[in-house]
Amino acid sequence: MITSTLTSIHHHSAPPLTLSPALKTAVLLTTLTLLGLLAGLTGQHLLHQPALTWAGYLTAFLAGGIPAGREALHALFTAHKLDVDLLMVLAALGAASIGQTADGATLLFLFSLSNTLQDWALGRTSSAIQSLITLNPEGATVRRAGTERWCTLDELQVGDLLIVKPGERVAADARVTRGQTSVDESSITGESVPVDKAPGSALASGTVNLNGSVEAQVLRPAGDSTLARLVALMEQAQTQKSRTESITERWESPYAMTVLALVPAVFALLHLGFGLNVTEAWVRAMTFMVVASPCAVVISTPAVMLSAMAAAARAGVLFKSSAALDALGGVQTIAFDKTGTLTQARMTLTHVTAPDKPAALALAAGLEVHSEHPIAQAIVTAAREQGLTPVTVTGAQAVPGQGLEARLPGGRIVWAGNLRLAARHGAALSAAQHTVLDDLSRQGSSSVIVGAGQDVLGLMGVADALRPGSRAALNALKGSGVAHRVMLTGDREEVARSVAAQVGLTEYRAGLLPEDKLRLIAELPGPVAMVGDGVNDAPALARADLGIAVASGTDVALESADVILMRSDLSTLAGAVRLARAARRTVILNLSFAFAVILLVAPLAVAGRIPLPLGVLAHEGGTVIVVLMGLRLLRFRL
Ligand code: ADP
Ligand code: MG
Repeated sequence: MITSTLTSIHHHSAPPLTLSPALKTAVLLTTLTLLGLLAGLTGQHLLHQPALTWAGYLTAFLAGGIPAGREALHALFTAHKLDVDLLMVLAALGAASIGQTADGATLLFLFSLSNTLQDWALGRTSSAIQSLITLNPEGATVRRAGTERWCTLDELQVGDLLIVKPGERVAADARVTRGQTSVDESSITGESVPVDKAPGSALASGTVNLNGSVEAQVLRPAGDSTLARLVALMEQAQTQKSRTESITERWESPYAMTVLALVPAVFALLHLGFGLNVTEAWVRAMTFMVVASPCAVVISTPAVMLSAMAAAARAGVLFKSSAALDALGGVQTIAFDKTGTLTQARMTLTHVTAPDKPAALALAAGLEVHSEHPIAQAIVTAAREQGLTPVTVTGAQAVPGQGLEARLPGGRIVWAGNLRLAARHGAALSAAQHTVLDDLSRQGSSSVIVGAGQDVLGLMGVADALRPGSRAALNALKGSGVAHRVMLTGDREEVARSVAAQVGLTEYRAGLLPEDKLRLIAELPGPVAMVGDGVNDAPALARADLGIAVASGTDVALESADVILMRSDLSTLAGAVRLARAARRTVILNLSFAFAVILLVAPLAVAGRIPLPLGVLAHEGGTVIVVLMGLRLLRFRL
């Protein structure tokens, strides 16, 4: 039942006003319960018609009690769990058993009405995922062997050439091979600014081609697209419980059992202890059973979590579970990876020092074609642009946090990386070479040393631009209550200092090996959230109490993190933290309210100060209020 919104669909089309079939049935049954109740009351008090009275109340009991009763019995026999809803049905039957049929019917009507309202409220958070699934077109025009034809999604194959016309939705993740256009990616990122596409750019399935007609090559089967994975993820997210949720769920059954066990005790106390007659004692015991039931407690947390997750998804922040949302609300430290997170990881080669520059660059490129590090792409691109052919190397191996090494066809070891890697190969740099590296660092450029065996063949500088908005995002975070914000990087001290200053971070740790990052994450004041791009920092994301991945374009590392920022910047991070904190506060408020109602009303019920219908009203009213409090978060703007 419980799913969540994704994307800005709300902006394009209002949520459908049509009710889901389940909700329609609920509305129908609630109406029927009300009609039965009214007929019963009319028969009993106005017309004095026993037949009408009986028919009316019977209808109310059947329509109001059977749906909940059936589910509760199912839970009892299959999961051996005592559902709180069962208590409501029992209380109604208990009231009827001593002739208080009207009260029992009123109870069932209010109960049924409140359940319907809850379903409607929670359904509002779920309607959008449906629209998301329908974002995928049914098929696409494909060019195979020179002829164009229409293919269904299942028929699409990796490597097929899609023809995407203006106004069409992209049918599968693909790469543009011809033509230029701009694309509305709001279905994936929540961001409605069109993104320009040219040959080489990636197109995500479900996004809308706005103006030009383009050809694009299919990268993944339609079922594996980013969109399909997002949908699967959102569906899965609903099944993962937050801590408070699992606590309340674990206690639901024992609590309901306790209430049930207390009912005879209350009855005995009133009847035997205080000498009340059987009917009065029994009615009070039933009223106690209703008001002491933790319906509001049980729904307190899920109502909040679902709404918050839906609001987040609409802004392009995906929580993989409500546990992740809960965790973000309590985070004390946020650690940021530098490359690809605070910076764009779209590096450019800015500097080469070498006796033979083309040879050094060709060798570096030969090594770096085997690497996925952002530095690698800068060097390979620069070599290509200068018309150099990358040197062929074999057995290339990454040395995490240092660079990579391989062998020339003749067997000589070659490498590209930082000072640590140079030391590893016994290469010593001259004073002049150290000066070059220091100068590069001072300008904020990362450096790469290229060597063969013990010989240093060249020094290169690569510069990385900040992600737009990194500084503003970190500024916004200052006011959000997260005490520590730290940058972690494998890069050199000077580069780290320069980047930290540019984004306005006061804390940073430089020169870290991947294992140092893991150690620091465990040592920083917790709970710690780690923000990375998920590409080469998956272990750190996994080690942190909470892993947050920034999507880089449409390549989304969904697996490594608990939270995914779909916009390729940090602009939604502070909002997500505020939302998570608001969710926490609302859960606490809800739970306090729910327990307060029980503590206040249950003694009044025992004391006979509250008639059964009023007790029911207080109880169901409390439940609805708690759900509406959660629903408020649906309107939260990140
Ligand atoms: P970060 O993400 O903080 O930059 P990494 O662990 O990815 O940290 O890299 C740390 C350092 O290791 C880089 O700054 C660079 O000096 C070196 N390095 C890593 N991979 C490569 C590579 N493919 N080519 C050159 N240098 C590399
Ligand atoms: Mg990185």
